[in-house]
Amino acid sequence: MIDLKQYEVWFVTGSQHLYGPKTLEQVAAHSQEIARALSNSVRIPVKVVFKPVLTTPEAIHTLCLEANAAANCVGLITWMHTFSPAKMWIAGLTALQKPFAHLHTQYSAEIPWAEIDMNFMNLNQSAHGDREFGFIGSRMRLNRKVVVGHWQDAEVQASLGTWARAACAWYDLQGAKIARFGDNMREVAVTEGDKVEAQRRLGYAVYGYGVGDLVKVVSQVSDTEIDQLIAEYNEQYDVAPTLRRGGEQYASLREAARIEAGMRHFLKDGNFKAFTTTFEDLHGLAQLPGLAVQRLMADGYGFGAEGDWKTSALVHAMKVMGAGLEGGVSFMEDYTYHFSQVGDMKVLGAHMLEVCASIAAKRPALEIHQLSIGGKADPARLVFEAKSGPAVNASIMDMGNRFRMVVNEVEVVPADAPLPKLPVARAVWIPRPNLKVAAAAWILAGGAHHTGFSQSVNAEHLQDFADMAYMEFLLINQDTKLVDFKKEIRWNDMYYLLAKGL
Ligand code: MN
Repeated sequence: MIDLKQYEVWFVTGSQHLYGPKTLEQVAAHSQEIARALSNSVRIPVKVVFKPVLTTPEAIHTLCLEANAAANCVGLITWMHTFSPAKMWIAGLTALQKPFAHLHTQYSAEIPWAEIDMNFMNLNQSAHGDREFGFIGSRMRLNRKVVVGHWQDAEVQASLGTWARAACAWYDLQGAKIARFGDNMREVAVTEGDKVEAQRRLGYAVYGYGVGDLVKVVSQVSDTEIDQLIAEYNEQYDVAPTLRRGGEQYASLREAARIEAGMRHFLKDGNFKAFTTTFEDLHGLAQLPGLAVQRLMADGYGFGAEGDWKTSALVHAMKVMGAGLEGGVSFMEDYTYHFSQVGDMKVLGAHMLEVCASIAAKRPALEIHQLSIGGKADPARLVFEAKSGPAVNASIMDMGNRFRMVVNEVEVVPADAPLPKLPVARAVWIPRPNLKVAAAAWILAGGAHHTGFSQSVNAEHLQDFADMAYMEFLLINQDTKLVDFKKEIRWNDMYYLLAKGL
């Protein structure tokens, strides 16, 4: 479902005519070499396409218009090898509708102390050329990523790669469709929000359906399709004996497969990238879709429970950002706490059922158990524990006058003891800097109980993404101090009020 190789970023070098054709030829040759190196870098998941060196306002403007219109161009990497007077960039950057990263690099890594002459100085001017370009970006209040260092440096390439992943997710989200089966869980506040504003600011549209629309498709699923899915289950999971052919709950597993096949048809036929369900509205479905949701997420679909379309869109965007990287992305919920010594306090994260096996440490078990809410038949689900290691939880809220993203860096750890009676997929983590500070900061930020959880996407991906969306970004990590965090929230309130006038 997600293939980042189809996307490209354009490598755009600014200069001016002052230097004469010979210097400009050298600038172009160097730019081509850098673009090629970035394109071939394993740290950058997209093609990097060299564009002819820009030396006039007209050429810059035309290039920006072309980038806006180009399918699969997710953004620009800009670099000023020489000086490029930045008034030339005003029209182009005003028109540009795609994100850009400013690569503040230099062709030669080091100063050739014994050889350096004025020719070298006239060619290698990014130290001041990029500052001129930086000024106009700041003067125009443009969000962009600034990456500093030599272009062959692994860290520089990784940082550009992270930005490119965020740009792919941003591009993918523009015009994306989200299917919402049923409405919001009644009276829940944080999962609500302004869908018109989300479409305007974030690019995706939410399509509401009665669950009956889905039930109709589910009821048309053929036995052959169900057989195929059951075969896949047996291949991919440790299937509980009662769910195997001849087992007493085999019929329930077939029902779960029917729901999965129906949902797949519905989402594929409607070209949806994400969806929501709500256990308060399952009329005509025999079970809460658990296994189906888990497997659809594993294929790249975003998901939010209880009508949570913002988290669903975020989970899908994170799937795009993390495509091909080690570790997965899942819908998640802070469920239960383990209060112990401050540094060791943990969160048990899970949902009733809907956690994606892309985060699983081992081959999942396919089981069926009673669900204590919802009043439906027992639903099938995958049961597993998440891999240990660094992860993030991210959440987007509608604050009334803006969207806010809050991210917490966490460390997934093994459970203190086996959990033989807990029949759901789960992750146990220690939030940074610790649970006391992290949970207080999260709550003060109005962070939702639903999150996008990931071990492939990190805070830098999410910050780059938030910047592209001009969305507020709050990070809770090792350095967070509550006294500062509270001030940041207050100051941001003022900033986003005033930013409309900037
Ligand atoms: Mn929930």
